[in-house]
Amino acid sequence: NLLRSDQDMTMPLAKPSEEDELSDEEIVLALHEGIKNDEIEVYYQPKFDLATNKLAGFEGLARWKYKGNTIPPSIFIPLAEQFDLIDDITFSVVKQCLPQIARWSNTESLLKIAINFSARSLSQLDFPDILSRQVEENGLLPQQVIIELTESALADDQASSLEILTRLRMKGFGLSIDDFGTGYSSVQQLQNIPFTELKIDRSFVGNFLSSPQSQAIVNSTVEMAHKLGIKVVAEGIEDADTKNALTELGVDVGQGFYYAKPLSPAAMEKWFKTNSHFLSNSDVKQSDLK
Ligand code: C2E
Ligand code: MG
Ligand code: MG
Ligand code: MG
Repeated sequence: NLLRSDQDMTMPLAKPSEEDELSDEEIVLALHEGIKNDEIEVYYQPKFDLATNKLAGFEGLARWKYKGNTIPPSIFIPLAEQFDLIDDITFSVVKQCLPQIARWSNTESLLKIAINFSARSLSQLDFPDILSRQVEENGLLPQQVIIELTESALADDQASSLEILTRLRMKGFGLSIDDFGTGYSSVQQLQNIPFTELKIDRSFVGNFLSSPQSQAIVNSTVEMAHKLGIKVVAEGIEDADTKNALTELGVDVGQGFYYAKPLSPAAMEKWFKTNSHFLSNSDVKQSDLK
């Protein structure tokens, strides 16, 4: 139901009248066509090293416009998973992200791209090889690609998941637990799976300053992650005070509207030009952005 879709301010939905409201079936049919017509776009949200305020990389986020409405991923990703379209979306996102990050990188600075994957990918044993080949074809290193998985994606623990994640890690890819704290058995997964990064869910970040509970959870999460040699990212940072408090607590990387919303490639390049103070000399060469 589109009317109770998403709180996400990045994508205001034109409020459809009753008769305009799209059924799941209509969305799935349109999505099928949309994928064939290359309508899935990737927007990029920059991530920052909190201690230095420098660009640390990007997260690629899928976007889809249908009949002038932006349908949020919280609607079309679950439908794509349910109706067997998710692999096509993942393929389209990867196909756009890899060359884009290669264009924004240069020899002194290897930028990173975080890509969201569904649990589905973890049942294909050849997934690590396929991804490695694509990364190599684009002149990137596996170390530049971070695979984000949600805890619920990991919950179906098939034997193959651990095998595939271990192979990915051995090839050099980064592995990130997305929306950390919202799923279940997360702590056990940290023990079993060779994660390199943990993303604290924005529900703990948004109310961080006003909630002693969130502060305690984030604090102990950071402590635990660091003891395990895992980097901590906070998503959904919307103001300077939250950013400063999280920096103080030792959170490594931040992402959120405070810095920038997810942007189209063209808007991202404009952003680079007006926010060059976020880029260290070795991050992105302005000459590469023309
Ligand atoms: P996610 O991976 O946790 O992505 C972060 C979400 O938080 C994004 O929502 C982003 O726009 C939003 N966000 C970032 N900073 C802020 C902030 O400061 N405040 C607020 N209120 N929101 C912020 P988005 O783009 O709507 O994506 C929603 C979810 O859809 C993603 O959550 C991810 O789970 C899924 N998704 C998006 N693209 C893909 C994709 O290509 N493949 C798969 N499998 N899932 C995707
Ligand atoms: Mg993510
Ligand atoms: Mg997340
Ligand atoms: Mg999230």
